[in-house]
Amino acid sequence: MTVLSFLSRASRAFQGYPACSKLLILCTLSSGGLVAYSESQPDNGTPGVDPNQKELKKKRVLVLGTGWAATSFLKDLDASLYDIQVVSPRNYFAFTPLLPSVTCGTVEARSIVEPIRNIVKKRRGEVNFWEAECVRIDAANKKVLCRSNVESNLVGNREFSLEYDYLVIAVGAQVNTFNTPGVKENCHFLKEVEDCQKIRRSVIDCFETAILPELTEEERKRNLHFVIVGGGPTGVEFAAELHDFFEEDLVNLYSTVKDLVKITVIQSGDHILNTYDERISSFAETKFKRDGIEVQTGCRVVSVSDKEVTMKVKSKGEVFSIPHGLVVWSTGIGTRPVVRDFMEQIGQGNRHVLATDEWLRVKGYEDAYAIGDCATIDQRKIMEDISSIFKAADKDNSGTLTVEEFQEVIDDIVIRYPQVDLYLQSKHLRDVTDLLKDPQGHDRKEVDIEEFKLAFRHVDLQMKSLPATAQVAAQQGVYLSRCFNSRQQIKDNPEGPRRFRGSGRHNFRPFRYKHFGQFAPLGGDQAAAELPGDWVSVGHSTQWLWYSVYASKQVSWRTRVLVVSDWTRRFIFGRDSSRI
Ligand code: FAD
Ligand code: MG
Repeated sequence: MTVLSFLSRASRAFQGYPACSKLLILCTLSSGGLVAYSESQPDNGTPGVDPNQKELKKKRVLVLGTGWAATSFLKDLDASLYDIQVVSPRNYFAFTPLLPSVTCGTVEARSIVEPIRNIVKKRRGEVNFWEAECVRIDAANKKVLCRSNVESNLVGNREFSLEYDYLVIAVGAQVNTFNTPGVKENCHFLKEVEDCQKIRRSVIDCFETAILPELTEEERKRNLHFVIVGGGPTGVEFAAELHDFFEEDLVNLYSTVKDLVKITVIQSGDHILNTYDERISSFAETKFKRDGIEVQTGCRVVSVSDKEVTMKVKSKGEVFSIPHGLVVWSTGIGTRPVVRDFMEQIGQGNRHVLATDEWLRVKGYEDAYAIGDCATIDQRKIMEDISSIFKAADKDNSGTLTVEEFQEVIDDIVIRYPQVDLYLQSKHLRDVTDLLKDPQGHDRKEVDIEEFKLAFRHVDLQMKSLPATAQVAAQQGVYLSRCFNSRQQIKDNPEGPRRFRGSGRHNFRPFRYKHFGQFAPLGGDQAAAELPGDWVSVGHSTQWLWYSVYASKQVSWRTRVLVVSDWTRRFIFGRDSSRI
């Protein structure tokens, strides 16, 4: 590349962006640096840990997984308090939000991973890591059976078992094919780093094959038809990445076939990005239309062969097929077999997903916790406890609840049942006592049990299960490590809400998720973001916000530098199309 084309590329990249966006990225990157610096400082001890406790035999904590949930748990866990072991088939943490960028070489695979040993070595105390897969949890004997999946001629027994006092299950989820015929054999997935590396090679294969001599136009077209099944954030981001890769880099290298390239996104719902704000999904649809990315909504894929994707139009029942060169399947997640087997052992066999309570403890089994994509919180309904709440609050046993009596339990109710807050927000009520007003909106001095039940009858409708995102997994890991670190102190000084059904208080406050918003990169250096407080932002400046947030969220200073330098390299030299 000549100096001239380098300068023109760099200047193109910076054109049109408001100065404040550029300033924002610089500020965030430098503040990200500060965060990384503080992360790398040695731990100088946690106040409040009883030194005698270390003399006692330490409890064994076994962590399954090295993803978002497990890593954030391990990063904050006081390793001097427990005997910690970690088992995972992957000896690194992967920054999954940048996986779609790896598929086209915008970011290199090694820039978004950090060896787990690097992450845990900073902990006070020892953390043992074993690279193996947990193949079975033996719930009755508190043991797990593990198997190393390294395939080589190395000597040694690949199977071993580990005992635990506390088990932290953070194995994530697996791809869900919904048993659609041909998907496993003919589709790419976008879940692991290896998947992205495979996609990157296959995309180049499609182009190299399409320009070979003696192919018919039909064959060239088929090779260059990229189909993405699933219009969620991952599918949409991949489509956008692929489109940019083609428009910015490949178009000049494969100019003879440039008019034959086609990208199609198949979505079973009526809109792509349907978990986002409407404004974002319609912005994405308009942008894709402008970019020539075809979006087929309302279609369900029924089978995939090596040459065709067959789908059914949901409204009409009509079935048709389209040829493809490459299919990426990105439609949702399912439970891993090891978790399913565990669920059967503990009486959760009839559920789809492993259930925990609000403290992230596995339901129906002592001393196991489940965090991240492998589990869901089974939120308690307030209506199940409404009579106990009334009884506990009615201090004078008068059979009625005065506003003063109610006020004494409000804080505990709001902490224990997060849906109350959501309900108040949805009804634009400022105070929980507003719930006690009569149907005409007049204040009431006291209510009886029936009126009390009536006031809360719609509150449980606000209960929503949390999304399977890195944000949720990471927050759960941090929460759980805090509970583990203060387990001893909290026994004498519980901080949780009062128990309405029993006596005393819960030891800890339940887990509460805080949503910081979500991004959807849409290609052409444009992104959409949904920010707290019903804020929506789209366009080039949002993409700069995306760059700065994702740079600052990197797990280590090393990956932060690598990711930012990859972006810079892409701006200057474009993406590399070598098939390695
Ligand atoms: P994972 O991060 O998947 O980790 C699971 C861990 O368990 C892995 O280390 C795995 O090797 C290990 N494991 C698996 N089986 C076993 C076993 N049998 N025994 C022991 N260990 C095992 N979320 C966002 O919030 N924002 C985003 O922008 C975003 N983008 C995404 C893009 C892509 C392409 C993908 C795939 C996901 C994205 N997500 C995003 C979702 C996010 O990655 C997941 O919600 C998150 O990884 C869940 O964390 P986890 O720890 O539960 O699981
Ligand atoms: Mg009373």
